[in-house]
Amino acid sequence: MSCTEARFSFELYPPRTERAAAALPGTIDRLAAARPDFISVTYGAGGSSRTASLDVLRYILEHTDVSAMAHLTCVGSSHQEAHRLIRDFLDAGVRRFLAVRGDPPADLPEGDDGIGDIRTTAELVQLIHRVQAERVPYGELLVPELQAQAVLEHREHVQIAVAAFPNGHPSSHSVSQDIDALLAKQAAGANLGITQLFFHAEDYLHFAQRAAEAGVTFPILPGIMPVTSPARLKRMLELSGEDLPSDLAIELEVEPTDEGRREIGIAWAARLGQRLLEGGAPGLHLYTFNQHEAVLSVLDRIGALPAATPAASTRASSTTPPKPATAKEPA
Ligand code: FAD
Repeated sequence: MSCTEARFSFELYPPRTERAAAALPGTIDRLAAARPDFISVTYGAGGSSRTASLDVLRYILEHTDVSAMAHLTCVGSSHQEAHRLIRDFLDAGVRRFLAVRGDPPADLPEGDDGIGDIRTTAELVQLIHRVQAERVPYGELLVPELQAQAVLEHREHVQIAVAAFPNGHPSSHSVSQDIDALLAKQAAGANLGITQLFFHAEDYLHFAQRAAEAGVTFPILPGIMPVTSPARLKRMLELSGEDLPSDLAIELEVEPTDEGRREIGIAWAARLGQRLLEGGAPGLHLYTFNQHEAVLSVLDRIGALPAATPAASTRASSTTPPKPATAKEPA
């Protein structure tokens, strides 16, 4: 794919402080002006950021022309709560979801995985389709056999992404197991994959090829981010369970200035993004860490940004920014 035609999307998380909450609308406006396919918003395990996620999603939907993707987790919600939450998101205008198991809260007793009565991500995918189908105003939905039919018929009304792990999920025994998990989610109605962070283009390209050969038909977006400091690299490795990319780590460690480290991170991500697109990736999903400058610089360097930043793609800035989350958030 040519870089000028490349599709891209961004990930944000709900703000954790008043200061971050005040800065977020400006960041969203700048990201929206780049005309991404969508902006996704993470969802905290334990239900802590339910309102905070919805506030950010609402801001995107009400103040920009960009589509918003809501992350949802199995962890932290009963079936009934998840049902209500999905309905709230749909009522707010969300039509894209990312269904994941979720990271369990750190303070759980030993042996408790935090999973309630939605045991697998595939079940969560199915539940999203079911809630979407229930909104269809057909009297015949009262007939159980026709409900199942409606779920199948109305699948295309929502996009449901799922997580993919080019280097294997930390708890899986082999990449084949991860691909089998993707196939189960595809059968449940997932229609997009988004990968965990990784550092080498070959990791993604081999994985995407193996997944396609095994029968995964939906596109898999590579998730990348510009890592602009050793501290951020360390944090990302903790969250993702990925192995340390020693060349990048050394470059960041020996560089004495913040400006130099920023340049290393942006140049690294731009090279990675370019190789991925040249290798056939369907687009790029950029983890922003709620900052627009570095990800927009990456896209600019690979020639993926629209020529003129269209001021028209954002509407008036809100005077009521999303509220900060009150408890632990995912990254
Ligand atoms: P699953 O599909 O259940 O499992 C992942 C892998 O683990 C599978 O591929 C399979 O190989 C293996 N596996 C599953 N079950 C078992 C088992 N019983 N035994 C052995 N192996 C098993 N977390 C949040 O809390 N909030 C978010 O907003 C969020 N957003 C994310 C966005 C992206 C793009 C990614 C990549 C991750 C995100 N996460 C988020 C983290 C995610 O919740 C964790 O990585 C979680 O551990 C995996 O979720 P999953 O849906 O892929 O899980």
